[in-house]
Amino acid sequence: MSKHEKVIIIGSGPAGHTAAIYAGRALLNPLMFEGQMAAGVAAGGQLTTTTDVENFPGFPTGIMGPELMENMRQQSLNSGARIETKTIDRVDLSEKPFKVWAEYEEEPYTADTIIISTGATAKRLGIKGEDTFWQRGMSACAVCDGALPIFRDKPLVVIGGGDSACEEATFLTKYGSKIYLLVRKDEFRASKVMRERVLANEKIEVLWNTEATEAIGDNAIQQVRVLNNKTQEERILDANGLFYAIGHTPNTGFLNGQIDCDETGYVLTKPGTTETNVPGVFAAGDVQDKKYRQAITSAGSGCMAALEAEHLLQNG
Ligand code: FAD
Ligand code: NAP
Repeated sequence: MSKHEKVIIIGSGPAGHTAAIYAGRALLNPLMFEGQMAAGVAAGGQLTTTTDVENFPGFPTGIMGPELMENMRQQSLNSGARIETKTIDRVDLSEKPFKVWAEYEEEPYTADTIIISTGATAKRLGIKGEDTFWQRGMSACAVCDGALPIFRDKPLVVIGGGDSACEEATFLTKYGSKIYLLVRKDEFRASKVMRERVLANEKIEVLWNTEATEAIGDNAIQQVRVLNNKTQEERILDANGLFYAIGHTPNTGFLNGQIDCDETGYVLTKPGTTETNVPGVFAAGDVQDKKYRQAITSAGSGCMAALEAEHLLQNG
C-alpha cells in the first residue's frame, strides 16, 4: 500500500536535518530517509567521518562531527520528524504525487514535496597508505582540517589543479611551513585569479606533471612519494599532511536525469532559492553547492528548503 507524505527528505547531513527540524516544527510531519551507507557514507553524512568541527557556530570549543550529527538527528526527532534508515534508489518526479522507492522495496512512498539533501562525496585516489592515514594526516577538506595542530608549521602537500586545490593550498599557507601543490598536467584548470594567487605565494611550490603514489610514515605521515609522469622520476617529499582537492561527486545518480543538473551532476537551483526545475522538488546542501561545501551553509539551505516547501504546501 502506498504511504503518502507531505514532505519527504532524502539525505541526513546538516541540510537534511535542518530541513527536518523546520518542517517538523511547522507540523508537516516530515519523513526523512537517512540512507544506509548511501554513497559510502554513514547516516549523518560527511561529518560522521571527521573528528573536531571547530567552525560550526554554538560550540566555542568545537564538537566532534559524529556527536554534532547525533544531536541534529535527535533534534529532528524532537521536532516531529520521522526517520527511516533506508536509501532511496529510484524516484518518479514526472507527476504529482511524486514517488520514491527505498532500496529492495517494491511499493513506493508518495509525497507532495521532496527535499533532496544527499550531499556529495569527495573523490579519493586510493594510493598506498591512504587507508592507514585517512583523517589522520590525510583529508579532502583543508578548510575543515587545516588548522589542526598536527599541520602547524609543517610541510604539507595538496593534490589538484582546480580552484579548490588553489584555494586550499593558499589557505594552508596560514598554517603549514611550505605547501607542495601537485598538478598532474603542466597547467592549472583553475581560474586565472586563483592560479595567479598561487604562483605569487612564496610558500607554495607547484610540482607540474606530478602525482602522489604513497603516503609514508609510522603513526603519522612523514613523507609523500611522488612521480613525475613525464620523466618517470620518483621523489620523496618530507611532508606531514596530504590534502586531496580533486573534485567531489554529487550524490544524484538515483535521480536518473529527472532533475536539471549541471555537467558535473550538481542539482541546479534557482538563484537565491532551493527550487529545482520541478515545482515541489527542492535541493539543499552540498548536492547543489560546489562552491562553499560547509556544514553551516548546508544547514542554511536546508532551512530554506523547508520554508519553501511549507510555503508551497500552504499556497499551492
Ligand atoms: P552530507 O553531509 O554529504 O550528507 C548527505 C547524507 O545523505 C549522507 O549521509 C548520505 O549517505 C545520505 N544519502 C546520500 N544519498 C542518499 C540516498 N539516495 N538516500 C538516502 N540517503 C542518502 N564542514 C564544516 O563546516 N566544518 C568542518 O569542520 C567540516 N569538516 C569536514 C571534514 C570532512 C572529512 C569532510 C568530508 C567534510 C567536512 N565538512 C566540514 C564539510 C561538511 O561535512 C559538508 O559540507 C556537509 O556535511 C554537507 O552536508 P549535506 O547535508 O549537504 O550532506
Ligand atoms: P575541478 O574543477 O573538477 O578540478 C579538479 C582538479 O583535480 C583538476 O585539476 C583535475 O586535473 C584534478 N584531478 C582530478 N582527478 C585527479 C587525479 N586522479 N589525480 C590528480 N589530479 C586529479 O574541481 P574543484 O577544483 O573542486 O572545483 C569544482 C568547481 O567548484 C569548479 O567549478 C570550480 O570553479 C568551483 N570552485 C570555485 C571556487 C571559488 O570560486 N572560490 C573555489 C573552489 C571551487 P585535470 O585538470 O588534469 O583534470
